[in-house]
Amino acid sequence: MWMLVLVAGALLDRGRPALDAVRPESISATVRFLSDDLLEGRGTGTRAHAIAEKYVATRMQALGLRPAGEAGYLQQVKLCETRAQGQLIVDGAEVKDVLVAGDCGTPDRTVEGELAFAGYGQAGELPGLRGKIAMVLAGAPASLPSTQRALASSNEDKLKRLRAAGAVAEVVLTTPELEARRPWALLQRNFVNGQAYDADDLPPLPVVYLDLGESDRLRQRPGSRARLHLTQTSRSFESGNVIGLLPGDSQETIVYSAHLDHLGICAPGARDPICNGAIDNATGIAEVLEIARGFAALPKRERSVLFIAVTGEERGLLGSAWFVRHPTVPRERMIANLNLDQLLPAYPVGELVLRGAELSTLEDHVRAAAAELELLIVPDPVPEQNFFARSDQLNFARIGVPSACLWQGFSGPRGEAAFKDFRSNRYHQPGDEWLPAYDWEAAAQMARAELLVGISLLSGPRPRWKPKSPFR
Ligand SMILES: [Zn+2]
Repeated sequence: MWMLVLVAGALLDRGRPALDAVRPESISATVRFLSDDLLEGRGTGTRAHAIAEKYVATRMQALGLRPAGEAGYLQQVKLCETRAQGQLIVDGAEVKDVLVAGDCGTPDRTVEGELAFAGYGQAGELPGLRGKIAMVLAGAPASLPSTQRALASSNEDKLKRLRAAGAVAEVVLTTPELEARRPWALLQRNFVNGQAYDADDLPPLPVVYLDLGESDRLRQRPGSRARLHLTQTSRSFESGNVIGLLPGDSQETIVYSAHLDHLGICAPGARDPICNGAIDNATGIAEVLEIARGFAALPKRERSVLFIAVTGEERGLLGSAWFVRHPTVPRERMIANLNLDQLLPAYPVGELVLRGAELSTLEDHVRAAAAELELLIVPDPVPEQNFFARSDQLNFARIGVPSACLWQGFSGPRGEAAFKDFRSNRYHQPGDEWLPAYDWEAAAQMARAELLVGISLLSGPRPRWKPKSPFR
């Protein structure tokens, strides 16, 4: 049992029954089950993912959560997956290294047009694109503040603008900076299983990616004639979000989320072919379930609390995108989103990184909880990773719900070493497994911090965006 050693403040006093309910051994057990080889890495739309959905729904029921999906706890997300191949011919010669993203459209077609350079594909860079193939730099100008830059980098948004400007296809040019962060070999790996999309939000144009050499070469050749031949095989499928509610006095709702899916069988033919996704993101699901246990233990809740395990995160934040377009709780009732993605229980937690909370008055609640738990708020030690724009909290922010994906930071050199070791040796690899060396009390510390932030949100004014937020 967790022992209270601080002089308790009001928030801590009020939260004590909830914090005491969090059990490290339960987090460990949940992670261990979800990352077992039998769960086959919980690939979106697989039978293994469906089993994981049932498991989470069962746990929600056992915790006393009310079903809040469309069929019980489940909300089926309609998806399309496509594997494409393509040829890009410029002035009669085939461009060598290309990756072509399918769009779930017609299986075989050719588009032709003149190549036109359209900068970063932002508004104002798009005149004269009608009937042309737009060459667009990946990413966004370095002059933008980091969150704005991450938002402006969204290729889905660029495609909508290009389509509106009349372009017939997009050619994405990489840059030395992006190549350093997302090497061509990594992009190639991402294409192995094709692309997946929400069936109600298919990309409006075919997309071609070039390596650095071809990017530099073609950028010098606007006005050239280009022809893209695309063939693709597509399939429709479904995968579930799992949603449970703890009602409160008011219908205003705090939303906790975590992605349940991972990469599935990611290395076919290898000795260990399964990307188990223990850290990414069985830990997030395990924490959300403990947080639910904590809220259920409170004698009074002024507001309601919603818990969502989303599918399709690894395929492009698809389950959360579906949820915000088809919310099972009206969007105006959702007052805040706390998303949990990749807790690394390898070292004691002494710090918290706001990761999105600084954009709204959610920050005050995080600071209040951190102070009570004696955690230091620190700046993001890896801001270049742009983590805020890379997980499901982004989709909540896009519909106006203040959101954050709190992170444990490095909390010292030991944590920094553990983080770097994880990122290079286990992240998105078969080695991301439940390890006996993990420190589940550290995991419980993070769950208590997230829980206390939510308890702080039960009363008082709703969080609102700060003037600097791009989501206002
Ligand atoms: Zn991941």
